[in-house]
Amino acid sequence: MSQPKVRIYRDCDLVYAAEARCPCGAGMAYVRGGTDEPGGGRYWDCADILTGRAVDSGKPGSVMHTGRAPFVFYEIKSEGQPSACGLTTRPAGSKPALRARIWDKVCDVRNAVTETVEAIWDRE
Ligand SMILES: [Zn+2]
Repeated sequence: MSQPKVRIYRDCDLVYAAEARCPCGAGMAYVRGGTDEPGGGRYWDCADILTGRAVDSGKPGSVMHTGRAPFVFYEIKSEGQPSACGLTTRPAGSKPALRARIWDKVCDVRNAVTETVEAIWDRE
């Protein structure tokens, strides 16, 4: 399967799925904060594709990978969700960067504020 060219990301730039894996065995992942592509596409993709570890299709040793799974159509549990209970498909030894973990907290707070404002708005 031909994959659109993407910037090469580091493991610490990615949020990994708790359990979902590409047929190649790598974890599914998405780029924290979205990609640089037009529209800031947010989608799940094979981590080996996103990190450039995958062998280009057509070259010796290349394997089949999943296609992109846009957020709006796919419900994949991420490693960051409390219900993931620490499960992750992240390669052993790699950790999300500190700023990534802080960003997660910022998103939590932002979501909480949005929900509160909407609840108040609905009551007015
Ligand atoms: Zn793959």
